[in-house]
Formats: sequence, C-alpha cells, structure tokens
Amino acid sequence: MDRYNDRCECCGRSGVKTTIHHLTPKEYGGANLPTALLCMPCHKHIHHLYTNKQLVDQGLTTLSALQQDPAMRSFIRWIRKTPPGSIPKSRKSRNVRGRR
Ligand SMILES: [Zn+2]
Ligand SMILES: [Zn+2]
Repeated sequence: MDRYNDRCECCGRSGVKTTIHHLTPKEYGGANLPTALLCMPCHKHIHHLYTNKQLVDQGLTTLSALQQDPAMRSFIRWIRKTPPGSIPKSRKSRNVRGRR
C-alpha cells in the first residue's frame, strides 16, 4: 500500500484499482524515472500494443505521448464508456445467452 490511488492517469476514470507503470521501462534505466498509475485495462493494453523497446523507441515514455498515440486514443475512448467496476475481458459484447 505504498502508492495507491483510485484514478487512472491514462483514461481518467476514478474508482478503479490502479497499478504502477514505469513510463520508461526499468530495463531502459527508468527505475528512478516517473511512473504513472494506470487501471488494469489501460496498463494491459499498453503492454499488449508495445514492447518495452517500442515504448522507448517511439518516445511513448510520457503520459501525454501515450494518450496521443492513435491506438491508445481509440482504446481510451472505448474504455471511458466502461463502468469502473466491470473489468472487460474483450471488446466483444458479452452475450451471455442460452443458459442450460
Ligand atoms: Zn485507465
Ligand atoms: Zn507497465
């Protein structure tokens, strides 16, 4: 419980569980550089889109750079419509039909 905040600095939703993201990956010397608090979906998505090397190579080592990235932008637009309580598994609508 060293750094806990319930607002994601990427999508701006509050009431979410956040995790610490090293804006510059530790393996690229980011251990003492700024971090950001991200909700799980945002955090996962960043690492899903980019490897640590790509984050550095493409200069996505600040929050504003990440937020302006086209792929992240469309993700943020989508995640903002998602209530904080529900953790989406995928973009597919969950048609939980057909109970047995
Ligand atoms: Zn978020
Ligand atoms: Zn991270």
